[in-house]
Amino acid sequence: MSNLEDLYREIILDHYRSPRNRGELASPPAHRVEGFNPLCGDEVVVYLDVHDGVLTDIKMTGHGCSISQSSSSLMSAAVKGKPLEKVEETIDTFKKMMTAHASTLQKDEGDDEVDLRTLGELAALQGVVKFPVRIKCATLAWNTLRQGLDEMSASL
Ligand code: ZN
Repeated sequence: MSNLEDLYREIILDHYRSPRNRGELASPPAHRVEGFNPLCGDEVVVYLDVHDGVLTDIKMTGHGCSISQSSSSLMSAAVKGKPLEKVEETIDTFKKMMTAHASTLQKDEGDDEVDLRTLGELAALQGVVKFPVRIKCATLAWNTLRQGLDEMSASL
């Protein structure tokens, strides 16, 4: 178990130190959306490019704690280039992981439980559920992404 925790810690630190998809996209045409977590002071700005139902590009800027920033980076890597249905699915799975009780994460069966195998590197953030004050840090980028997608579909 401690080996797995070490691996997860390494993934989080790696994404914190070398964030993926860092930067900005010209807006417009990209959609720009901001998120803020006042509990911790985390800020994130997400730029989204969608073509024919596919999230063709995503860039992010922002600053904050290691959990918020590594979660942003992990998210961008997980959703970039994916069809929007798949993006929504990934958001749902991630948010479910963040609201699950630590005990239900260990199981592989059952309807409401999260299958960590579908999450890849995102599973590294599962340890955050043990620290309720950090959950908002981990979900900030995801809530911001969903808000951006909602705004885009509303304006179509
Ligand atoms: Zn934070």
